[in-house]
Amino acid sequence: MPDGNALPSIPVPRHLHSIRYEIRGPLARRAWEMERQGLEIIKLNIGNPASFGFRTPEAMRRAIVDNLGDAEQYVHQKGIFSAREAVVAESQSKGVHGVTVDDVFLGNGVSELILMCLEALLEPGDEVLVPSPDYPLWTAAVSLTGARAVHYPCRSEHEFCPDPEEVARLITPRTKALVLINPNNPTGAVYPARVVEALVRLAERHGIVLFSDEIYDRILYDGAKHVPVATLCRDTLCATFGGLSKVYRACGYRVGWATFSGRKSHASSYLQTVELLASLRLCSNVPGQWAVQTALGGHQSIYDLTAPEGRLGRQRTAVLEGVKRSKYLQLVPPAGSLYGFIRVNRERLPKFDDNAFAMALLEEKKVLVVPGSSFNVDYTDHFRTTILPHEDTLKDVFARIEDLLDGWAAT
Ligand code: PLP
Repeated sequence: MPDGNALPSIPVPRHLHSIRYEIRGPLARRAWEMERQGLEIIKLNIGNPASFGFRTPEAMRRAIVDNLGDAEQYVHQKGIFSAREAVVAESQSKGVHGVTVDDVFLGNGVSELILMCLEALLEPGDEVLVPSPDYPLWTAAVSLTGARAVHYPCRSEHEFCPDPEEVARLITPRTKALVLINPNNPTGAVYPARVVEALVRLAERHGIVLFSDEIYDRILYDGAKHVPVATLCRDTLCATFGGLSKVYRACGYRVGWATFSGRKSHASSYLQTVELLASLRLCSNVPGQWAVQTALGGHQSIYDLTAPEGRLGRQRTAVLEGVKRSKYLQLVPPAGSLYGFIRVNRERLPKFDDNAFAMALLEEKKVLVVPGSSFNVDYTDHFRTTILPHEDTLKDVFARIEDLLDGWAAT
């Protein structure tokens, strides 16, 4: 038996070399370390509403507690019937047709379902169209299969909406799927109906699968309207992702769902493969599933929070005001989701670099944000903040940022 020191270090498998998820990367690890040393860090890196005092509706908690006795056993790999039925009713109420309980999969958050739905589809060398910036799990999940994420730009000049003609030019014979994240993380963009419609027609024309991540579907500001992709899609397979984490402030319950709609006649092998992958993990967290019917059928308290005078509405305004007061910052107002994707004006700070900034902000000002380049963009002058802290904290955060950047401008 060789002693421990003589063992060669365990290598990272080659297919994982390119996998990145910097929202919980080295900066976040440094913040945890600083917290362990007793420092107080304002953490704006994760869209985790409960950590800022947003509570899950009481009725959902009660539904879990009341059903704990039934939650001790494995359940169907697609999830419990009442939860899937509630997701079907929700789809119908939005105007999506032809969805049955068999088309709904419950998962341990949307995250797990994204991984399964891509793994069931892709071969090494295949391509998937993914927005840039993206929620980086999407790019990582494509790369894990050996396929390639081909990024289509969503530019600030166009309110971070995709240009369907530009997306069309990126399609090749290897393109298997088109990913939409709407409302978007990190930009907060909510796509107009004409953009959604054009992207759906594009996918239909090329027979590629639509993956629509709509986890923020009810987190909308200033009268923004969300158009569910599935309401417009008829001629190709569409998977829509939703969940309890954001709208219902229950990230820790780990509950998400994928709903398949549109044309399914050609997709039976694919859907069976998704089910096979679902059965490999037996079933998803059962107690959380018991909250789904109550969540979807109950009072939608998220609308009270996103109204202009609601807590999220006011905090979004505080972010917009913080940016407006700054000499360095610019922001396309987020129409939805929980983030601001803020640009730093390079005319005033020519040497600005997002990674160096985020590190300095953490070390010197005890604020954790995510550098823009973590979201698969080819520029380095943005950072993402959540809009979750109270207004006073946000005001304090923007004062700390301004102070840091004043220092940088002076050197
Ligand atoms: N999709 C988007 C766009 C997200 O922002 C997130 C989490 O931040 C997820 C999916 C994953 O959510 P879940 O908690 O359901 O795994």
